[in-house]
Amino acid sequence: MVDRIAIVGPGLIGGSFALALRAAGFAGHITAIGRNQEALDCAIQRGIANDTSTSIKAAVADVDLVLLAVPVGAMEPCLAEIATACRDDTIVTDAGSVKQHFIDSARRQMPSMKNVVPAHPIAGTEHSGVEAGFAELYQGRRLILTPLAETSQNAIDTVENLWRMTGAVIESMPPQRHDEVFAATSHLPHLLAFSLVETLNRLQQQDEVLRYAAGGFSDFTRIASSDPVMWRDVCLHNREAVLGAFDQLQNGLSRLRTAIDDMDADEIERTFVIAKETRDALLAVSRPDTSGQKDTNE
Ligand code: NAP
Repeated sequence: MVDRIAIVGPGLIGGSFALALRAAGFAGHITAIGRNQEALDCAIQRGIANDTSTSIKAAVADVDLVLLAVPVGAMEPCLAEIATACRDDTIVTDAGSVKQHFIDSARRQMPSMKNVVPAHPIAGTEHSGVEAGFAELYQGRRLILTPLAETSQNAIDTVENLWRMTGAVIESMPPQRHDEVFAATSHLPHLLAFSLVETLNRLQQQDEVLRYAAGGFSDFTRIASSDPVMWRDVCLHNREAVLGAFDQLQNGLSRLRTAIDDMDADEIERTFVIAKETRDALLAVSRPDTSGQKDTNE
């Protein structure tokens, strides 16, 4: 039974978690922990938290569950503080986009791992910060758990129940598989969008190409408006899987480049047909977006 929750990082993901729990009738106490008092004041105004703190140690001393919703690179320093201050039975979970790194960090900081439940909601937008959260973010979205053999069933059940209250649909998978799957389907598209826009920015300086950017540019590059620090940390802490996905993409780009260079109309068209059919089939089975906001497929 969870009555007191602390959310470290009440931004898009942490703030939406709190707002969704509230909307589902959670009546317990939520403390938002952050570094920036203005953002914390906003968390109170928006109904994300009952109270706030800039000190992890002070705020987690008597909570039942801590959710870490900070950038992946900030997880371990936060875990180190939590480990020194929380009760033995406090459940510690996270929402980070990379799972093996979180598990390695948690093992260093809280070796028993009994109450550590690694998790990743597959939902998001390109907006970030305390203003960005909304109660519907997780409706019908997947929540991936990557629990370990040592994780207690009670801790897993507790985390699952809270996420179910937010509207999420729970799935489990091994952490390594998680990191590979999301390197390909989420991390790679974000890096591609960032790289494309950065490349066009270089061209812009010579040639003002961006004056002519239109709908296709905007559709493809929306996710390049995502938070640079969050995505920097995903690259650094899921390096191997991201590089593997990168190499696959580079092979695909090279094949397409060769086909264009060779004026190989069949190969060019074949590539585009496979891509179109794959995407159309995926969209036909994916759930409609009920949030009114575009999903990043994160
Ligand atoms: P966000 O909106 O930028 O929120 C991040 C929060 O962490 C803010 O409250 C920020 O507050 C705090 N923070 C940032 N750096 C920190 C540090 N070094 N130490 C302590 N607190 C820090 O980001 P988000 O999109 O919610 O992402 C949070 C986590 O969820 C990340 O691990 C990300 O990988 C994961 N995730 C993101 C998405 C997505 O699409 N955005 C989807 C699924 C999972 P202050 O800067 O005010 O301290």
